[in-house]
Amino acid sequence: MAWTRFGKKKDMPNGLWTKCESCGAMLFKKEFEQRNRVCGTCGYHFTLPARERIALTVDPGTFDERWADLRAQDLLGFNDRVPYGEKLNQTRAKTGESDAMVTGLAQIKGIPCAVGVMNFQFLGGSMGMVVGEKIALLCELAVERQVPVVLFACSGGARMHEGAVSLMQMAKTCGALARVDQAGLVSISVMTHPTTGGVTASFASVCDFLLAEPGALIGFAGPRVIATTIKKELPKGFQRAEFLLEKGQIDRIVARANLRDELARLLAYATGRDPVAAFKPQPVAAEPEPVAVAVAAEPEPKAKKRGKKKDA
Ligand SMILES: [Zn+2]
Repeated sequence: MAWTRFGKKKDMPNGLWTKCESCGAMLFKKEFEQRNRVCGTCGYHFTLPARERIALTVDPGTFDERWADLRAQDLLGFNDRVPYGEKLNQTRAKTGESDAMVTGLAQIKGIPCAVGVMNFQFLGGSMGMVVGEKIALLCELAVERQVPVVLFACSGGARMHEGAVSLMQMAKTCGALARVDQAGLVSISVMTHPTTGGVTASFASVCDFLLAEPGALIGFAGPRVIATTIKKELPKGFQRAEFLLEKGQIDRIVARANLRDELARLLAYATGRDPVAAFKPQPVAAEPEPVAVAVAAEPEPKAKKRGKKKDA
């Protein structure tokens, strides 16, 4: 399969059609969006904007966004053709987002959780002070509310415009997740195409469950950089989710259509709820009572419900 690097939509002139980056098929845009940006011909998972991801993942009407007004500052006076401050303003106007991360509390099939989603549309989903701060605040809130954390990664890496401050977010987000762990709460990372650089090397890789979408590029340095450096041809499928699953770096690959079910099931296990119930459609407002975990033996997070996989 001829994968291309970071997804950039190639819109056709009239805007009705878009071309699959992987197989080249012409996709009717409306239908493509209804399929949640998965190619109907080859199954290629395009990058999903943060708001669409949230709509697809959490129960309707349950997303309670937090810290939406956090704004990055240009501490270095960084100038890359356009000054960083100006670039931020332009990107905010273009995307309607304040930075590359959307965070808040939500429910997934009735299970309360803290959710953070990266937005690739905002400066390549790069992690700077705002992304790091939002993840840290989200983890603190999760501990306060005693709910699990679900993070969707989609990033070109650390934000170079913020220099060392952006690199510092790697330690900061890992520290925040360590607090979640110490509080006995579960964290789930979903790595989507592309998850690279300092994001892979920090919060995206240290959660309890590491999920990935099919075909996602996941790595630290890019394949071309590595190939040039080591002067060797890289193995087939290098840094793709399937390759990493085989090597044991991630736990499971989940197609976008099944992700909500899979998250609900893991969250159910993680919070001592009935995982079977997590597969049944639930009324939006119904919030199950927290269950005492005391007696139940640790359920096997595998096989059993496999056959019940839903086709959305
Ligand atoms: Zn395709």
